Amino acid sequence: IWVGVLTWRQSSMGATDHVSAIVLGRCLTYTRNMHPELRNQDCKKILNTFTSAFVSKDPCNITKEDYQPLIDLVTQTVPCNKTLFWSRSKELAHQYSGIQKEMFTLEDTLLGYIADNLVWCGDPRTSEVKEEFCPYRNENCSSTATSVFWTVVSQKFAESACGTVYVMLNGSRTTAFSKASTFGSVEVFNLHPDRVHTLHAWVMHDIGGVERDSCLGSSIKELKSIVNQRNISFFCQDDYRPARFVQCVRHPEHPSCSVLM
Ligand code: NAD
Repeated sequence: IWVGVLTWRQSSMGATDHVSAIVLGRCLTYTRNMHPELRNQDCKKILNTFTSAFVSKDPCNITKEDYQPLIDLVTQTVPCNKTLFWSRSKELAHQYSGIQKEMFTLEDTLLGYIADNLVWCGDPRTSEVKEEFCPYRNENCSSTATSVFWTVVSQKFAESACGTVYVMLNGSRTTAFSKASTFGSVEVFNLHPDRVHTLHAWVMHDIGGVERDSCLGSSIKELKSIVNQRNISFFCQDDYRPARFVQCVRHPEHPSCSVLM
């Protein structure tokens, strides 16, 4: 019943059942069905390389190097100008990229797709993928199998981006940009200024929700300053209209959905 619905914040409750079967199934769906140009990828090998990163190991001390073989095995290029990062706006970013299929969030790439919403870990006493309990990520257990995976694949995703890159942020939160987020701590710092010339931020607001932050707020000023210091241009747009249209599907009567803004 838990399949695909646990997030790492809930991971003290348990790992995802049947992680290996889900990862293999998702890999086959992605490479055979959704992206047949990747049909030569060996999903069994991808699964084995994925699980080798953490099985039989201390679930609190996984390293980036543990996942390096997986990163080296799965090479997929996202076209220039088509990378979409997100922070605190996962659902909308995925709804948008699900329609605007040219755009890729990390979870629209094979590595992000196979692991999204799953929780997994190993155990030094067995060579199994644990299916009952994975430790919480906290100060005593900072390098879990799941969290190190996301750090490594987010870093790789940002390193390979080129042209103009986009980020969807949530202006209904007090701070649309947070330096503590994976976007703010990993992705921004791994963009290559020689390949990425512009970061374009879309600050989205929940329809009918509070507008706590915007392109004019101090968190976006901080993002602009970090990005400009890295010699990357920065643009910001509040409520990017194509993404607004997606929000409007569920709120067609809202004034912001019927009036040209
Ligand atoms: P965020 O704060 O909205 O977090 C996104 C989701 O990922 C949340 O469910 C959060 O619980 C989880 N998450 C974040 N960092 C994590 C980590 N180190 N380990 C495990 N889970 C983590 O936004 P964010 O922190 O900026 O992360 C989103 C950005 O980073 C995206 O651009 C994406 O490319 C990448 N990312 C994706 C995931 C994912 O679960 N699909 C997780 C981490 C990072």
